[in-house]
Amino acid sequence: MGFTIDLEAALHFSSIDGYLQQQRQVVASLRAFYDADAARIWNALSPVQRARFAGALGRDVALPEREWNRAWWLHAIGGTPRAPFVTGLSPEDGAVLFAALSAALDPAVPPSDRRAAFEAWWAALIERCRALIARYVDERIQGARRRLLDEGVLEADVATGTQSPGAIRHARRSRRGVGDRQRIRASEQACLDLHRALDLRFRPLQPVCGACVRQTGGCCTITVPLIWRENDFRLLAFDTPAPMVPDPALAGACPFLGASGCRLPSERRPHICRSFLCESAEAALGTTLEGTRGEIERLTRARSQLA
Ligand code: SF4
Ligand code: SF4
Repeated sequence: MGFTIDLEAALHFSSIDGYLQQQRQVVASLRAFYDADAARIWNALSPVQRARFAGALGRDVALPEREWNRAWWLHAIGGTPRAPFVTGLSPEDGAVLFAALSAALDPAVPPSDRRAAFEAWWAALIERCRALIARYVDERIQGARRRLLDEGVLEADVATGTQSPGAIRHARRSRRGVGDRQRIRASEQACLDLHRALDLRFRPLQPVCGACVRQTGGCCTITVPLIWRENDFRLLAFDTPAPMVPDPALAGACPFLGASGCRLPSERRPHICRSFLCESAEAALGTTLEGTRGEIERLTRARSQLA
């Protein structure tokens, strides 16, 4: 199809708003490409085909060429309205638009290569975004680890003598008092204990969440890591996990999801990943829900003491 975009250069985000905004910009570039493609096809249509298109829309159309562009784009994205590519168009109106496109091209059918090219491109964009999010998380964990070292909460680099004199001076300035350091280490231990207790409480959720993931993809979506906070990264930084490559079989999912569930250590899992309970999950917890909520609140308090 000839459409290329340097996704590495186009995408730099560290928040959900930034992710969505840049995704919209990149999709707009693709839409412009398909609009040019649509205009070329429109110009090649005979007057009879154009009349069939306008007639199949079933209403007076002041700008049939513009409607044609919408129909062409709709065809590319799969034939029905689908966020984030087409919004504000009902499935019924989408069906009319797509039927009009088919009527204009009859007896030929809308070309499949446009749709295949679109899907390939979209898959590449999502994979790029997942890799960037995994890298962003890795950088945030490394940053949190540096701060823990500077504060004297972690001692490893000082002990090995690998810091530069400037870094050592900086670390001395940033070093926390003994009481602070003890509080932070104690809160780390409290978080670990509470996570282990919640692991046991969440066992009844495994079949419920497993079925949900198979049917809907579940709640471990691509943007979840973009709402993690500094204390989430600090808890991970005490025992930094190795950088992870997103599983290509789980397109659109959180980069840390694997075939058997989350690949991050459960005892250091970010807060939203531990505290979010949908209605089905709440129902599955039954009489243990209240106790679970209490444990999550204690975890919230313990986590707030990590900084
Ligand atoms: S918590 Fe709810 S939405 Fe998330 S995977 Fe489980 S059942 Fe699905
Ligand atoms: S639980 Fe794991 S896989 Fe799910 S959103 Fe959180 S980090 Fe990602």
